[in-house]
Amino acid sequence: MSVISLERTYQQYLEMSQIPFLHCSACQGNHGFVRNFCDVCGAADLEWKIASGRGRIQAITVIHRAPLAELKSTVPYAIAIVRLEEGIAVMGRADLALALGDAVSGRPVEHYDGTQILYFDKQEK
Ligand SMILES: [Zn+2]
Repeated sequence: MSVISLERTYQQYLEMSQIPFLHCSACQGNHGFVRNFCDVCGAADLEWKIASGRGRIQAITVIHRAPLAELKSTVPYAIAIVRLEEGIAVMGRADLALALGDAVSGRPVEHYDGTQILYFDKQEK
């Protein structure tokens, strides 16, 4: 399956408020980036699974200068890499109050261009 087709499927899951990831049944590896083969064992038969959305902040930065004119009204905003419970790292926007190591919960939100992106905030206890 082409990566473009996989990206479309990824967006469709997000539109259904689900956070998808690819799983390799050959080596049991999970992949946070959309790809059409397993970069651990080379298998091509990856399957979609749904993540819980729960994880921890692994890296976070605050953007003060918008990279696009369309984003000017949204600065400052935080971009985080989150290590999900499923072992995969994903990137998304995050609440400005978050810090490294914080337990977070993610959900898809609509981006300025109509696509869906991930947004993380503090995990409910
Ligand atoms: Zn594999």
